[in-house]
Amino acid sequence: SLPHDARRAEIVVDLAAVRHNVRRIADEVGPDVALMVVVKADAYGHGMVPVARAAREAGAPWLGVATLDEALALREAGDTGRLLAWLTVPGEDWAAAVAADVDVTAYTTAELDHLVDAVARAGRPARLQLKIDTGLNRGGCAPADWPALVAAARAGQDAGHWRVTGIWSHLAASDDPDHPANPAQQRVFREALDAAEAAGLEPEVRHLANSAAALLQPESRFDLVRVGLASYGLDPAPGHTPDLGLHPAMTATATVAMTKRLAPGDGVSYGHTWIADQPVTVGLLPVGYADGVPRHAGNTAEVGVAGTRRPVRGRVCMDQLVVELAGPGEEPAVGAGDRVVLFGAAPDPTAQDWAEACGTISYEIVSRIGGRFARRWV
Ligand code: PLP
Repeated sequence: SLPHDARRAEIVVDLAAVRHNVRRIADEVGPDVALMVVVKADAYGHGMVPVARAAREAGAPWLGVATLDEALALREAGDTGRLLAWLTVPGEDWAAAVAADVDVTAYTTAELDHLVDAVARAGRPARLQLKIDTGLNRGGCAPADWPALVAAARAGQDAGHWRVTGIWSHLAASDDPDHPANPAQQRVFREALDAAEAAGLEPEVRHLANSAAALLQPESRFDLVRVGLASYGLDPAPGHTPDLGLHPAMTATATVAMTKRLAPGDGVSYGHTWIADQPVTVGLLPVGYADGVPRHAGNTAEVGVAGTRRPVRGRVCMDQLVVELAGPGEEPAVGAGDRVVLFGAAPDPTAQDWAEACGTISYEIVSRIGGRFARRWV
């Protein structure tokens, strides 16, 4: 990809914040629960390799990714710790991941057949985790098919193809601790674990919880928790999560390209969806929806300007957006060439603030920001 000039727009990722958050979460779940830091999707936009290093430095024994490509990229970057991948499609080659000692996840007996072949080519047994679908109705083995999957997994283990290292599932409504799906999924998960045990499987790790469940439902922690969002210092269940003192790791900034005085009646950006009713000063920021700034931020989100919050005015364009820097009678605190914060840590707007303004979740705000922002790790 092209190099991007940090003077224009920059994402700064605070790895000390990641380390702090990981340690804080580990304290919260206690010494009997292992931590898997989820670094899929370029660590939710924070940079997979630097975040993975920070997570390991903070003591995370496990990392989690979606794809085998992500897992292999971590191995190529030198990561040697336990590492789980969970999303494949038929026809993908699992041999390199097996050879690289990645824990792979199977949902079906067809995948186990495919894995036998990959193991033969890798020349070593696999670490295999089985995923049961306890009710999210996304990936994973349907409960009706579970007895056949565990029987085949046991047979393959006895034949030396792999060791079943984990059994896991994923929750549908962990951000709402009172949702009835939570106890229902717990029940199905426990039944699946019992069935696996009856089939002679003794996995090292049984796991169900993501960030919200890890922090809000201690009974969901089992042997390990898979924590993504909270590692990045964002709140996985706004309104429910206790204050753990987590720090947002990502700050997205942009430099004011120019400023302009507007008179009452002047409309801003495409469609003139905002019209000044008083004299104001606006500033142009050189980032837009092609850089992952949500178009929905138009007329809804705020940016941090010298410690105050100032509104985005008019529509967000592909490469640029307009912010009101100063209202009537005010002198702007910043001018052309000065930096403002799109989102970061309070008192600046946070990714959660942007999510609320844009009708989405903070996961989407941080994982989509990118484009022509430069990125730096501190
Ligand atoms: N486990 C799985 C299977 C996931 O897909 C994800 C991410 O969505 C996580 C854990 C981490 O979730 P969170 O970021 O809410 O902690």
